[in-house]
Amino acid sequence: MASVCFICNSEVQPNSEVQPEKEISCDFCKRYLHSTCAGISRQEASVIRSKDRRLSTCAGISRQEASVIRSKDRRLSYNCSSCMDIKVQCSKLHDISNIVRALQNDLQSLKDDVQSLKNKVLDKAAVPVDDHFMEQVIEEINDRKERECNIIIYNLSEPSSSARTERLSDERALVSTTLQNLNGDCNIEIVKTLRLGSFRPGVCRPVKVTLSNKEVVLRVLRSKNKKSLAPVSISADLTVKQREYLKKLRTELREINEQGHNKTIRYINGVPRIVDSKNHLRHPDLTTA
Ligand SMILES: [Zn+2]
Ligand SMILES: [Zn+2]
Repeated sequence: MASVCFICNSEVQPNSEVQPEKEISCDFCKRYLHSTCAGISRQEASVIRSKDRRLSTCAGISRQEASVIRSKDRRLSYNCSSCMDIKVQCSKLHDISNIVRALQNDLQSLKDDVQSLKNKVLDKAAVPVDDHFMEQVIEEINDRKERECNIIIYNLSEPSSSARTERLSDERALVSTTLQNLNGDCNIEIVKTLRLGSFRPGVCRPVKVTLSNKEVVLRVLRSKNKKSLAPVSISADLTVKQREYLKKLRTELREINEQGHNKTIRYINGVPRIVDSKNHLRHPDLTTA
């Protein structure tokens, strides 16, 4: 059946073997047109048409089916100028729809994030304080309470007696003399002494001394800042957490002083802090072992 070229309105014979290279069809709108009206050379038209022919022969399908298959292959397809315009617009629309889809995904993931944050906040509100953490705090408070009447004395020579009772009374006398040397106070009551760690010959173990109350402890700790008993030294009986905190504070202090500052660590209301060296002379420095 003869068709009409949609450019010039004259007849084309797309399947004619007589003029095989002259007519082509648009792969998109399927309208026929002359190759010259399409602005392509007869050779190009011949290539496009011969693909259909070869494909249909090889695959044993009709020329029309071959044309459909070929039109899906970008390298071999032909589109008229109006279809090209449509395709360009379509591809722009496609780009825009991709952008919209990406934005929708971003929006959804933002919504998800907000929801998960909301859930976390609600969870936190539902359980005000972690039970485990609370237990740790209570344990720490009790530990500090137990230690507040103690001091630790380092480098105090160990009594040599082999009898336990004698050794304990010697120890007590030694501690008493040491504290008396420190601040001249003869009335410090020593509740208990205990060497820390297991005995090793030639090694002076630290001795934990329990005094009657924490005010006495503070008095002793203040005195030791004014008078040195070297090589004997005295410190507060600190919990693991307190020691870790002090260690951190000392590192910070070293870094600060390396930058030319003159700071020190002092206890203020029972909490060690980094302060200017000149200030806070009334507070005991509990930081040196
Ligand atoms: Zn024409
Ligand atoms: Zn077309």
